[in-house]
Amino acid sequence: MSVPTPRPGIMEITPYVGGESALAGLERVMKLSSNEGALGPSPRAVEAYRSVGAEIHRYPDGGAHRLRRALAARYGLDADRIVCGAGSDELIGLLCRAYAGAGDEVLYSRHGFLMYPIAARTADAAPVAADETDLTANVDALLAKVTPRTRICFVANPNNPTGTYLTADEMRRLRDGLPAHVLLVIDAAYAEYVTRNDYEPGVELVEAGSNTVMTRTFSKIHALGGLRLGWAYCPANVADVLNRVRNPFNVSSAALAAGLAAIEDTAFTELSRAHNEYWLPWLSERVAALGLTVVPSVGNFILVRFPTTAGRDAKAADAFLRARGIIVRGMGGYGLPDSLRITVGREDENLAVVQALAEFLGV
Ligand SMILES: *Cc1c(COP(=O)(O)O)cnc(C)c1O
Repeated sequence: MSVPTPRPGIMEITPYVGGESALAGLERVMKLSSNEGALGPSPRAVEAYRSVGAEIHRYPDGGAHRLRRALAARYGLDADRIVCGAGSDELIGLLCRAYAGAGDEVLYSRHGFLMYPIAARTADAAPVAADETDLTANVDALLAKVTPRTRICFVANPNNPTGTYLTADEMRRLRDGLPAHVLLVIDAAYAEYVTRNDYEPGVELVEAGSNTVMTRTFSKIHALGGLRLGWAYCPANVADVLNRVRNPFNVSSAALAAGLAAIEDTAFTELSRAHNEYWLPWLSERVAALGLTVVPSVGNFILVRFPTTAGRDAKAADAFLRARGIIVRGMGGYGLPDSLRITVGREDENLAVVQALAEFLGV
């Protein structure tokens, strides 16, 4: 019996598995598996979301005008070159489908965000991974993988799941080394958390040419992951392409309303950033003091490397934490089976995860 067959590449996709949020038999869990902002969303965003309820029979503003204007004002950007999406994941997928296809290559770094190879394969393009140095994207390794078939280069900066980043100078060197026809996509999902002065989210490179895009999300510091909202800052030519291929009403009215309130609530964003500025080093130092290897992170999460000794390894630690109601993220899917990724949580969550790891290690 013949059945409908998807295009080549589709069945090679390993489906993305999100961080779990429940554990069988446990009523209360601590979810430190998806890098959602520790403080949750701005109360004003929640209020804006609720207020949309009476109007959900209306289609949303397909042009996201108010939100784009607010983002432009907040970051000093050109609103005409902002395109909103149902999460930045949607924009990553649209960029792949618009700029890459059969026979093309999509470049990313070895432990880059998993959506890049998934989005490439969905477009029937071949994902190509470049090696990293110390779990950090390596500009020379990326450039060495460029071929005449390369169409897009994705770099998450800072990267998830490693937490490492490229300086503005390194990112400029990457852009300068890539052929002009290769679209550089800088995924700055964690930009708001970065406090290093040699970092730049990507705006300068977007504005310097016609071939660099920066993507951002409301799922991390703004903690609105459940609503699916992201945006891209693009050169005019790329904004034009995205506006042709996206669905006309790709962002819901609830997401638009909550996102607008979140962007305007700068005090709450600052509170979330300051929370991370305190707890990221705290968590990194405490976990390292237990004898585990913590990759230096500038995001709102840490990658923790475990010994490979049976009973002491990442898998055993994961099981131990789960039994105590703490969900972190196993990294097998990222090719880092010796590691767990832990999101910076509230104070009680951070204390609990350090305490549980200390018990696990018997220190
Ligand atoms: C979480 C994450 C995203 C996805 O964000 P959404 O806007 O929720 O789709 C994109 N890139 C990176 C690197 C992420 O960690």
